[in-house]
Amino acid sequence: MPASSLDSVVSLCKRRGFIFPGSEIYGGLANTWDYGPLGTELKNRVKQEWWRAFVHKRPDMVGLDSAILMNPRVWEASGHMQNFNDPLVDCKKCKERFRGDKLIEEKLGVEAASVLKLEQVEPMLTAEKIPCPSCGTVSWTPAKTFNMMFKTHQGVVEEQATMVYLRPETAQGIFVNFKNILSTQRPRLPFGVAQIGKAFRNEITPGNFTFRTREFEQMEIEYFVEPGKETKVFDEWKEAVWDWYTGLGIAKEHLRVREHSPEELSHYSSRTVDIEYQFPWGWGELFGLANRGDYDLKQHEEYSKEDLMYTDPDDATKKFLPHVVEPSFGCDRTVLTFLLEAYAEEELPNGDVRTVMRFDPRLSPIDVAILPLSKKEHLVAKAQEIHRMITEKADLVTDFDVTGSIGKRYRRQDEIGTPKAVTVDFGTLGEDDVQGEKDTVTIRDRDSLKQERVPVGKLVEILAP
Ligand code: ATP
Repeated sequence: MPASSLDSVVSLCKRRGFIFPGSEIYGGLANTWDYGPLGTELKNRVKQEWWRAFVHKRPDMVGLDSAILMNPRVWEASGHMQNFNDPLVDCKKCKERFRGDKLIEEKLGVEAASVLKLEQVEPMLTAEKIPCPSCGTVSWTPAKTFNMMFKTHQGVVEEQATMVYLRPETAQGIFVNFKNILSTQRPRLPFGVAQIGKAFRNEITPGNFTFRTREFEQMEIEYFVEPGKETKVFDEWKEAVWDWYTGLGIAKEHLRVREHSPEELSHYSSRTVDIEYQFPWGWGELFGLANRGDYDLKQHEEYSKEDLMYTDPDDATKKFLPHVVEPSFGCDRTVLTFLLEAYAEEELPNGDVRTVMRFDPRLSPIDVAILPLSKKEHLVAKAQEIHRMITEKADLVTDFDVTGSIGKRYRRQDEIGTPKAVTVDFGTLGEDDVQGEKDTVTIRDRDSLKQERVPVGKLVEILAP
């Protein structure tokens, strides 16, 4: 059973070192979050699995890591300067600011909110009597457009000419490198370029933990195809992404595909579908798939005056701008989804309740915990020897824990989602036949709670087959 309340996961994340409030000792900074030791491992594993599935396992994909700061002309060409706007409304009473469309979406659903024109936002808020979430009053200013790109200055002079933007999406780094990729990799269509990296959006109302933040990571793919071949590729990507999420443990019932209506489409897209997850506060976008056509390459050709055409390797007279299907994943939203989905509270046979994170073992921050039954020096030394053997012979992330009763340590490993715990006891040392034979240890399984006695010599083979 996944978490039904966000609070329980937020508190587990803080308690166990997955995610901390940003700049906490200074009172924080509006919905910023830092990944702690376990959160970092989890997030790295999400990225590794993604890269493995969509880059390394596919002959048609390559990777890229482009800069966050880009020539500002990129954002003129991409349309972000003109179009990357949200409708901002102010509460006349308490002066708090909100995204008008999101307030409407919360009450009437995304379909109603996304088709609204700017001048319709305030009348709709008033007609529907949608109150200010802060003070409860219904008294809104007309909506204004608000560009979400973060601005900064490069160099020592802060003037208009030195203004640069923090990228609001990783995608454009791929488009501006299209020519470099063509000339160095000589790929044949269809092929894709993948990138994982930070993006920044000056969101009006960040919130819901790491779901909406102003700094976040994206995992994006631009997949280039011959014009006219987008439809099939679009459906193939939709399926591949669905399979990736469900293959790593997200229940099908908690996911849905939502097709954007024509009015809702972004300026660059002729078709978009989102994969949404059932978050504790309702359905929310996890992933977006867009048919960008040749919009971006055409715009960059026009603004850069560079030739970005693809030449058919079998027929040099055939030159064209490829069309693009874009699978775009939010990395932090994906991590949050895995956290929510993994969370379970269950009653044990003895009546105790345990919290357990049922991560797919490929995502668990720790693969195996080594737990000496007691703090007796010679027992700890034996457990350390076994720990060393495991880390030397297997590519596993381990945790060595001697603090507290064995029951408490099992609970802790359950809470951080460690699939296997190895207990080293006096049987292992040959000092207690009841605990087990000499040179054997107990492996405890996180999910079934089954305990199995195995020879130390077989441990590596069993843990890392
Ligand atoms: P939303 O409608 O929730 O603002 P979007 O449609 O603007 O999202 P895209 O531009 O399609 O989002 O970005 C691709 C992915 O990046 C999204 O599916 C989401 O997972 C992630 N993402 C977008 N904005 C944020 C944010 N502010 N915080 C965290 N992740 C985000």
